[in-house]
Amino acid sequence: TTPRPALLASRMASTQASGAPIKLNNPSLWITEGGFINGKFTKGTGNGTFDVINPGNGQVLGSLPEMTVDDTRQAIQHAKEALKSWRKTTEYERAAILQKIFQLQMDNAEDLAQIITAENGKPLADARGEISYGGSYFSWYAGEVVRNYGDVIPSLVKGVQNTTLKQPIGVCAIITPWNFPNAMVTRKLAAALAAGNTVVLKAPSETPFSALAMAEILRQAGVPDGVFNVVLTEKNTPAIGKELCENPTVHKLSFTGSTRVGKILMQQASGTLKKLSFELGGNAPFIVFDDADLDKAVAGAVACKFRSSGQTCVCGNRLLVQDGIYDKFAAKLVEAVKNFKVGQGAEDGITHGPLIHTAAVKKVQEHVDDAVSRGAKVLVGGKKIDVPGYFYEPTVLGDVTECAIDNEETFGPLAPLYRFKTEEEAIERANDTEVGLAGYFFTENIARVHRVSAALEVGMVGVNTGLISQAGVPFGGVKESGFGREGSKYGLQDWQQIKLVALGGL
Ligand code: NAD
Repeated sequence: TTPRPALLASRMASTQASGAPIKLNNPSLWITEGGFINGKFTKGTGNGTFDVINPGNGQVLGSLPEMTVDDTRQAIQHAKEALKSWRKTTEYERAAILQKIFQLQMDNAEDLAQIITAENGKPLADARGEISYGGSYFSWYAGEVVRNYGDVIPSLVKGVQNTTLKQPIGVCAIITPWNFPNAMVTRKLAAALAAGNTVVLKAPSETPFSALAMAEILRQAGVPDGVFNVVLTEKNTPAIGKELCENPTVHKLSFTGSTRVGKILMQQASGTLKKLSFELGGNAPFIVFDDADLDKAVAGAVACKFRSSGQTCVCGNRLLVQDGIYDKFAAKLVEAVKNFKVGQGAEDGITHGPLIHTAAVKKVQEHVDDAVSRGAKVLVGGKKIDVPGYFYEPTVLGDVTECAIDNEETFGPLAPLYRFKTEEEAIERANDTEVGLAGYFFTENIARVHRVSAALEVGMVGVNTGLISQAGVPFGGVKESGFGREGSKYGLQDWQQIKLVALGGL
C-alpha cells in the first residue's frame, strides 16, 4: 500500500490526545479513531461511543465510535471492489504478504500482548503465547497456499480433460469473541486472505483494540485497501450482525462465539444461503482413568481447565475421575490450584487473571451454588474476590453429581470433579451433551487410547495433554459446537470453492 503520512500523523495526534493508557513501544498500534474501512481508520457515520473496560480493575480503558449498518454496507462495498484485484494476485504474492504480517506481528509481539492484557485481562505470559500462536497462522498459511494444488481427474468420455480450480469465495464476514482477541481473528483471517478473499470483521466490543492493532499491522504489511475492514459496535451488534448475514454481496460468514448466537446467525443467513463456518460453545469432558500418570493428568487439568481463567471454548468443563485415582487426583489438583497467583494480568508473577465482566462472575457463582445445593463439596475457592475488577477464586468442587454444569459451559475457573467407575460409564457421560468441541483423557493403556479416542463425540481429542491447538492441525467441533475447520489444509478449503473445468474436443 501507499504510505499515508497525513493519516498517520493525525492518528498519532489523536492517540496522544486521548492518551494510550498502556505503555507501548509503538504507540501507533493503539488506535482510537474508529473502525477500518478501505485502508483508513474512521469513526463512521454513527453517533456516540462505547467504552472498553479493563476487567482487571473495572476502569474504562478507552472509548470507540459506535458504527452503523450503513458503515457496514460501505465496508462490504469496498471489500467487493478490492476483491477484483486481490483475487487475481498469485498465491506467491499473497504468501509474501502473509509472511510479512507474521513478521510484523512478531516484531510487535510485546505491544500486542500488552493490548490483549489491558482489554481481556489475561496474564501477560498468556497474552504473549497468544501472539505467537495467532501469528503462526500467517506463516503456516503462507507455506500452505503455494502447495495448494487442484486436480486432474480421469475422464469417462474420450477427448475431455477434467481439472479443478480452487477459487476464493469472495467477500466474507467474520465475527469473533473476546476470549482470544488476536488469535480468534488471525485463525480465520490468515486462511481467508491466503485463499484470495476479502473480509469485513465485526470486532468484539469487549476487545476491539486488538482487532484495530491487527488492521494497522495489515496496513503496514501492504495489504491493499479494502481487502480487510473492521467495523466496531456495541449496541448495534444485532443490526450489524443481521446485515452481514443478509447482505447478498457477502458469500461466507465465519463465526466464533456461543451456540445461542450461532443459531440466530444461521437463521438470518438462510435467506441468502451463505456458506457458514461456525466455531461454537463447548462442554469438554476431561477424563482421568485409574491407569493415568497422575502428574501428567494434574498438569493437563491446570492447563486445560484454568488457562485464561477457564474462558476458553476447549477448556475441560466436566472433570470425570475414576474411583481408584479420584482422591489422589483431587488432592493434587487442589494443591496446584492453591499455588495460583490471581490478579491483574499485567503484574509480575500473576498466573491467572480476571473474568471478562460481572455477568461471567455471576455465572460461575450460579454453577457453584447449584452444584453445592445438590451435594457437591467446595475443595478450594468457591466465591468471588472482592477487589476492583471481575475476579473469582479458582475453584475445585468434589463429589459433583447431576447439576447445571452437565449441560452448560461455565466459562470460568471452576473444576467440578465427577466420580465414575467404568470406561463405558465415562464415555456415556462424556457424550451426554448437545455439543462436541474438545475432549481429553489420561491413560497409559494403549488399547484404551484408541478405543476412547474413537468413541468420544467431539471434533478434537487430547490424550495425555491438555493443550491441543496449533496452526497445522484442524480445529473445530461436531454436534452443536458447529461445523467447518480452522487451521490445517482443511481450514484453507473452508475459504475456497472448487470449480470443475471440463475441457472438451481434445
Ligand atoms: P457471543 O456469542 O455472545 O459473542 C461472540 C461474538 O458475536 C461477539 O463479537 C459478539 O459481539 C457477537 N454477537 C453477539 N450477538 C450477536 C448478534 N445477534 N449478531 C451478530 N453478532 C453477535 O459469545 P461470547 O460470550 O462473547 O464468547 C464466548 C463463547 O464463544 C463461548 O460459548 C465459547 O465457547 C465460544 N467460543 C468458541 C470457540 C471455538 O472455536 N469453538 C472459540 C472461542 C470461543
